[in-house]
Amino acid sequence: MRTFSHGLGGDIFPVPIPTGTTAPPAAVLFDRDGTLVVDVPYNADPEQVRPVATARAALDLLRGAGIPVGVVTNQSGIARGLIPPAAALAVNARVNALLGPFAVWCMCPHGPDDGCACRKPRPGMVLEAAERLGVDPRDVAVVGDIGADLAAAEAAGARSVLVPTPVTRAEEVRAAPVVRPDLLAAVRYLLGRPGPAVGEPAPAGGGWSADPGRPDPATAGPAR
Ligand SMILES: [Mg+2]
Ligand SMILES: [Zn+2]
Repeated sequence: MRTFSHGLGGDIFPVPIPTGTTAPPAAVLFDRDGTLVVDVPYNADPEQVRPVATARAALDLLRGAGIPVGVVTNQSGIARGLIPPAAALAVNARVNALLGPFAVWCMCPHGPDDGCACRKPRPGMVLEAAERLGVDPRDVAVVGDIGADLAAAEAAGARSVLVPTPVTRAEEVRAAPVVRPDLLAAVRYLLGRPGPAVGEPAPAGGGWSADPGRPDPATAGPAR
């Protein structure tokens, strides 16, 4: 066993050392736009943040398993002058309020031509997040909606799962090592659990649609 801080107040708790590729990851990093929240291109408005349908359930499952979760997000709108830096931070804060807290946040503010080390598909943010969490990048899993997310993971030595949206390119889906239909299915895969249990309906709406913010109809009884 080794230990690490989850970064939320100094607590230390043990995490088993993974013994193979089927072991649960030591940390899971999520892309933001199109993965945790519905993609609003160059969003600078916290009011437009909408979690995807299974984000809360997926994050709850990981947190319940004691696995720290983080966010790694490209925000080239900052470099392009389309998003004031303070607005990007306000959007992140809204994501944190709706889905957090996250153990680590990494945001690349650069453009594609800036040559930075952090913009996905480069591995900088995955490596930085792993370092800040005190875990080996090889024990990290990245969940994202495009090839750049998976390429960043691969370059860092991490595992990855693609959760496509309607705008994910077909070749990116074909090239992905693992594809799951929504965030909850992706996390179940990472935890070594099967798909929805017998008698348990698959989450409605897919991973990319907005969370309507209503109680789960499976537990809230007939709503209509
Ligand atoms: Mg994305
Ligand atoms: Zn960067």
